[in-house]
Amino acid sequence: MNHKNSMAVENTSESSVKGRQKPDWLKVRLPTSKVYGEVRKLITDYELHTVCESAACPNRGECWSRSTATFMILGNICTRSCGFCNVITGKPTELDLDEPRRVAEAVEILKLKYAVITSVNRDELKDGGASVWAETIRCVRERNPETKIEVLIPDFCSNWDALQVVIDARPDVLNHNTETVPRLYLPVRPQGNFDRSLELLKISKEKGMVTKSGIMLGLGETKEEVIEVLKAWREVNVDLVTLGQYMQPTERHLPVARWVTPAEFDEYRDIGMEMGFTNVFSGPLVRSSYHADEQAQDVVSASC
Ligand code: SF4
Repeated sequence: MNHKNSMAVENTSESSVKGRQKPDWLKVRLPTSKVYGEVRKLITDYELHTVCESAACPNRGECWSRSTATFMILGNICTRSCGFCNVITGKPTELDLDEPRRVAEAVEILKLKYAVITSVNRDELKDGGASVWAETIRCVRERNPETKIEVLIPDFCSNWDALQVVIDARPDVLNHNTETVPRLYLPVRPQGNFDRSLELLKISKEKGMVTKSGIMLGLGETKEEVIEVLKAWREVNVDLVTLGQYMQPTERHLPVARWVTPAEFDEYRDIGMEMGFTNVFSGPLVRSSYHADEQAQDVVSASC
């Protein structure tokens, strides 16, 4: 089932990771709050999936305690096998056409002002699941007209008609992560393509979307390569950017090449802001949906 790519990533950094000890800046609070338990129960009762759990996100204690969660639609089995990702790879089951309604109800119960929705890849479907994406956005909006919606979408295998279906549902922010630098695509994102992802971001921007993208650091990329990715995003007018530390979810996943220091993350933030992005979230614990509401607040309120 979970056949993650085990190819080792070349470690090009000077300070490689010795042992598994995480630096202090990556140590997070254990999830214990009452709200955390309530969010978990809701997700179970509604038979929903969250990327917070599926990806073993280190921030879920904090996010769920703030009553925010990133819903993962189209099931919890992915047709792809990214080397960093903890979602199960396999042959997905049938489409759950009631899922959009349940996501919309969960957003209502959690009183979310800002909902983040992502999905697994469904490359076996002709439209890559775009119709379910659109239906989910419509359902959430109908039930929660004040809620802003951020979608973190797949590349739809360059099916730009499928992308258009999502764009036509008018999410407030369209996020698509390039995940890493082009040189590391084979081990990190073997079925992905950096240029294809850039093209998706370019088209989405041209169609009037607020766009967002992100990469993980600590997989073996060089500083120059990170800056090249920032430049590539800028060329297609990406608005919002996230950079965070990669953390190996299990032994079967790609190893961490190095722990990037908070100071280096700050440097990338400054470089990105200098380049003209609306907002750059750069830090060890930053994930693409982490404090997404705060990151998007200027650009979303201005565009609505
Ligand atoms: S496409 Fe997304 S969900 Fe699927 S394995 Fe890659 S990162 Fe994980």
